[in-house]
Parts: sequence; C-alpha cells; structure tokens
Amino acid sequence: MGFEHIKMPEQGARVTVENGRLKVPDEPILGFIEGDGIGVDITPACMKVWNAAIAKAYGGRRKVHWAELYLGEKAAGIYGGNYFPEETLEAIKHLNVAIKGPLTTPVGEGFRSLNVSLRQTLDLYACVRPVKWYRGVPSPLKKPEEVDAVIFRENTEDVYAGLEYQSGTEENRKLAKFLREEMGAEFFEDAGLGIKPISAFGSKRLVRKAIQYAIDNNRSSVTLVHKGNIMKFTEGAFRKWGYELAAEEFGDVTISEEEVWEKHDGKAPEGRIVIKDRIADIMFQLMLLRPAEFDVLATMNLNGDYLSDALAAEVGGMGIAPGANMADHVAVFEATHGTAPKYAGKDMVNPSSLMFSGCMMFDYIGWHEVSKLIENAFEKVVGEKVVTYDFARLIDNATKVPTSGFADALVAAIERG
Ligand code: NAP
Repeated sequence: MGFEHIKMPEQGARVTVENGRLKVPDEPILGFIEGDGIGVDITPACMKVWNAAIAKAYGGRRKVHWAELYLGEKAAGIYGGNYFPEETLEAIKHLNVAIKGPLTTPVGEGFRSLNVSLRQTLDLYACVRPVKWYRGVPSPLKKPEEVDAVIFRENTEDVYAGLEYQSGTEENRKLAKFLREEMGAEFFEDAGLGIKPISAFGSKRLVRKAIQYAIDNNRSSVTLVHKGNIMKFTEGAFRKWGYELAAEEFGDVTISEEEVWEKHDGKAPEGRIVIKDRIADIMFQLMLLRPAEFDVLATMNLNGDYLSDALAAEVGGMGIAPGANMADHVAVFEATHGTAPKYAGKDMVNPSSLMFSGCMMFDYIGWHEVSKLIENAFEKVVGEKVVTYDFARLIDNATKVPTSGFADALVAAIERG
C-alpha cells in the first residue's frame, strides 16, 4: 500500500482480522497521531513509558513498530492546509489499531470537528471509556476503590445524529405542519425541532460489543442504561433490543437479572454475565452510592456523554480518563481531554489520559502484561506524591514534576519492576 507522506516502518506487520477476531503479530505496526497543542508534550512522554513497559514485559520478544500518521495542525503543515488527509484514514483502516492525541477544531465556517469526522468516516460506533480508580489519585468519593466500570456509549445515533430543524426556517415549518396535520402532534408555535433516531441495528451492534467485552475480560454484568420509562419507542426500544440481542446471540453465557431473581434466588449462576437495566437518572445516583454493583454499562449517545464525564470525575477527572472509539475491528484510542493550548509545549500537563488509553490499546491486542506494569508503576509514583501540576493542586506536600519528569519516574518504576 503506497502513501504520499506516511512512512510505514520497514519492520513489523499489521494487526489483521481473521474469523472475526484480531490476529496480532509479535511485532505489530501500530499507528499514532501526535495531536495538536499539548500533543507535543504528552505523546513523546507516553511513547517512552509504553516502550519501556513492552521491553520490561517481553524482554525483546515483542515490540511495537510505530507508524506516525497525521491529522490536525501537523497534517495541515504537511498536506498543504488539509487537516484531514484521506491517506491517514486509509492507513488507520489498513493498520486496524491506532492511538491519537487531542486535535484542534479550527474555528470558523466550514470546519467540522476532526474527532466527529473521524468517527463518522470510519463508522467508529462505540465510544469506550473505562472508569477505574488508582491508589493515590484524589477522588471526591469515600470508597473510590469500588469504582471499576467500562462505559460503551453509542456514537452515531440519538439526538446527536444532526437531524435538527431551526425555528423559523422553511424546513422547520414543513416538518411542524406534517407533525401537526398528519400525525396529530401538539407543541408550541415556532419550536425548534430535533429527531432522535434509535435503531435496532445501531443498538444491537453496540450491546454486542459491550457483551463481547464483558466475556473477554471476565466481567460479571452488562447494564443497559436508558430513559425507556419516558421515551418508549427510542430509549425503551434500546433496552428491549439489548435484552433480545443478549438472548439471541449470547444465550449460553448471559442471564437476565429477572431470571436470576426468579430462578436462582438472586445469585447469578457461575460463568453467566448478568444483563440488567437501569433508568439513566437513577444510574447517576447509583454510581455515586453503590458503584460496586456495576461493571460494563451500555448506553445511547446522550446519556453516555453525560455519564462518561460524571464518572471520570469520581476517579480523578478528565486529565487521566482514557478512551477509545471503535468500529467492528478498527479501534482508535485517544486522550479524552482537548489540546489545552495555554500549556502547549510547556512540558507541564498530565500525560495519563493518553497513557492509559495506550493501556486500553495493549489490553485490546492482548498484551495485558504491558498495561499491568504501567498501572502498577502509576500507583507507585503517584503514591509517592510525584505528580504533574494538576494533581499537585489537590495533594498536600506533593512533588510537582513536568510531563517528561513524570514519564521518567514511571519508566524508572517500570524498570525496577
Ligand atoms: P481542554 O483542552 O481539555 O482543556 C481544558 C482544561 O482541562 C485545561 O485548561 C486544563 O485545566 C485541563 N486539562 C486538559 N488536559 C489536561 C492534561 N493533560 N493535564 C492536566 N490538565 C489538563 O479543553 P478546551 O480548552 O475546551 O479545548 C481546547 C481545544 O481542544 C479546542 O480546540 C477543542 O476543540 C479541542 N478538543 C479536542 C478534543 C479531542 O481531540 N478529543 C476533546 C476536547 C476538546 P486547568 O487550566 O484548570 O489546569
């Protein structure tokens, strides 16, 4: 496959898909996008940590060959002003697995968010956000160690699908007329109108991914989060399709919460993943008061958007929250914060969001030893109160280090084992 500006490493091989499963060579080529703003600080720092952990875990038996891909401002400099080069998308599809720093969305007419464009172009329909507390990290909860959940948020449908009609426009008037005259709908004059599509296809592929994740990672439950009590044919349908999918495709490894109570006196049989559902608003309360009861969460777009940030705040905030956007097999891991332009190039910010997104990526390709080493090193270093400025604000008597210093401390902890 020929590229204009992307240089594929000469060694290594790409991750492929066989019989619906990833096939990962010992020396995979993985894509990385440095990212704008603080991308120049966090990406090299994370590379150091990731490579050190791989070397420690496998002593040369396994190695990543990194292929730099371009999006955002760096792409614009290379591709004559194009922030979103086609060959980067081709390279991501070719490699299947990539990780990216944050990207600036240029302000002005005609620019779509690069992140939204990336999701839509590659049909990355699941936004995956693990929420887990690490020892030493400041948290507002009394028992943050009870939080260990993974949110699967649907990325393509819901009120975010872009079907909105501005008050006062011809399109709005047409739709309002149709709804009133043909469907008998009643609403205030000149209301802005939005449409909330939720399909069986979109819901089922998201729930399928969440259940498969639960199986692959020995998780005990998948909770469908919805407002089906109010929006019966969209959110209620998501719940119904979720249960249907679980029974149809994973009937031998899942069990509904209802059946657990009816037939097993409230205790799930060994080896079965419990499928349950909760109303979205109560879910926020439960994740504050009884987080230990929840494991994998499957949500629609809007509920998942709110829930992801709220839960991230329980375990240290956006500065350390990792994430990924996934299609059936293509997966793009990413820092969940933005480009923080005021800190760009100052070697100050916390690299942990991108670093833990890297851990998710290594778990995704089955290299669990790497992520474990990094997580242990993180708890050790943060436990010694060696932190970047953001955590230093929250921890008494902390030693404040730059981004690169934090990475060096992690590498030293990894090498010590
Ligand atoms: P932001 O870049 O996330 O920064 C907001 C604040 O969050 C920072 O000022 C800083 O807070 C804190 N922060 C962010 N990253 C941090 C890190 N690694 N370590 C420590 N603190 C961190 O949000 P924004 O200022 O709203 O957006 C800036 C640009 O980023 C925009 O162009 C936006 O479009 C883009 N963006 C991109 C993505 C993405 O690529 N996924 C996501 C969101 C936004 P303090 O100043 O309080 O220390």
